Amino acid sequence: MNEFVERRVELTWRKPKRAYDVVIVGGGGHGLATAYYLATRHGITNVAVIEKKYIGAGNSGRNTTIIRSNYGIPEAVSFYQRSLELYQQLEAETGRWMMHQRKGLLWIAHTEAGVRAERARAEVNTAFGARTEFVTPREIGEICPRIDLTGGGVWPVLGASYHVDGATARHDRVVWALAEGAMRHGVDIHQRLAVTGLLREGERVVGVETDQGPIAAGLVLSATGGHVTTLAAKAGVRLPIRTHPLQAFVTNHYELAFDQIVASSNLLFYVSQTARGEMLIGAEIDRQPSYSDRSGYHFLQNCSFRAMTLLPFLRNLRILRQWTGICDMSPDYSPVMGQTGVDGFYVTTGWGTWGFKAIPAGGEQMAELIATGRTPALIAPFALDRFAKDRTMADRGSAGTH
Ligand SMILES: Cc1cc2nc3c(=O)[nH]c(=O)nc-3n(C[C@H](O)[C@H](O)[C@H](O)COP(=O)(O)OP(=O)(O)OC[C@H]3O[C@@H](n4cnc5c(N)ncnc54)[C@H](O)[C@@H]3O)c2cc1C
Repeated sequence: MNEFVERRVELTWRKPKRAYDVVIVGGGGHGLATAYYLATRHGITNVAVIEKKYIGAGNSGRNTTIIRSNYGIPEAVSFYQRSLELYQQLEAETGRWMMHQRKGLLWIAHTEAGVRAERARAEVNTAFGARTEFVTPREIGEICPRIDLTGGGVWPVLGASYHVDGATARHDRVVWALAEGAMRHGVDIHQRLAVTGLLREGERVVGVETDQGPIAAGLVLSATGGHVTTLAAKAGVRLPIRTHPLQAFVTNHYELAFDQIVASSNLLFYVSQTARGEMLIGAEIDRQPSYSDRSGYHFLQNCSFRAMTLLPFLRNLRILRQWTGICDMSPDYSPVMGQTGVDGFYVTTGWGTWGFKAIPAGGEQMAELIATGRTPALIAPFALDRFAKDRTMADRGSAGTH
């Protein structure tokens, strides 16, 4: 894959036009992937992606890069498995090295209830196409010898689900490759252009107001991450989304010897190792809804304590860097994709703490919906009207932590 390293990304910046067939608000992974698939799969190229900062400035450039499909309900397993498979081909398709690496993911259980949950996860995964098996403590020790199987004497390791295809990819490389691919096909991407309102004709959304003037659109898609409710409100759409901060940190480098991704639902943290040797650690959202991207010492203290319980070698490392993103959390921990009930206005949201892995399939499926006007079967269960119809997609396997 190293032949990709030296070639510069070719991004072609053009001036905004007055009108597009499709305007996508938000230059994160989901907005860019939708533009990419609209152009490459459907030949729809009169498309603008409008980003108020720079592409990848939101969570798509702040996440812990974990890709997995070991979800807890059939619809989610099928959707994320599609995404995992698209990721496996994306480097070859775009000609860009994304540092995609299959690592395997251990999801550790420390209680009898946890063991039942991980066994159930393995069953539902296997039934719907994801490769996950239940493994014993002895097998865990063989897969990842650095785990303290006594859990510091407090959280003994009783078993785990082992998701063989769990992977990571470099987040900003994913963003740049999709942007490059979309631009190469004629899509416009505008950075430092903020959408400040929506243009309406009667009930219909017919474009966006920006800080540099109006832009007409046949259709507007919000892919605005944690800011989605403020934009949707301008179309009169009330979404069941709350915005919560999510923090993460990396340590200084450690010998490149930690090959897996390890997560613990009871200790509420997960860890992998970056290509630079840093240990990359994340946990659950901040409980208080907020748009703040401030990081805090409390999180660091708590999370590192829990991580050291299972991985004592972390004690010898130092924390190098900490950061925060703001997440669009849905009440059932599943995404919300599709029409909103307002003509001309679509959303891709509810990506919470788990949407990086969904970028290819989310983009592919939203592009198909926009191009054909029909909701693809894979994302039909994730429509917004599921809340009104009392058909929520509650998924305990979704955000264990990520
Ligand atoms: C610390 C952390 C760790 C995570 N770890 C993982 C992980 O390991 N695996 C995983 O699958 N997911 C993970 N996630 C979640 C994942 O990063 C997100 O779900 C995903 O990146 C969302 O992509 P997006 O394109 O929807 O949003 P974003 O990437 O947030 O993009 C939205 C963009 O919209 C722009 N925008 C907003 N409002 C406007 C406006 N009015 N006008 C113009 N532009 C606007 C923003 O500037 C932003 O760039 C993590 C998130 C965080 C914060």
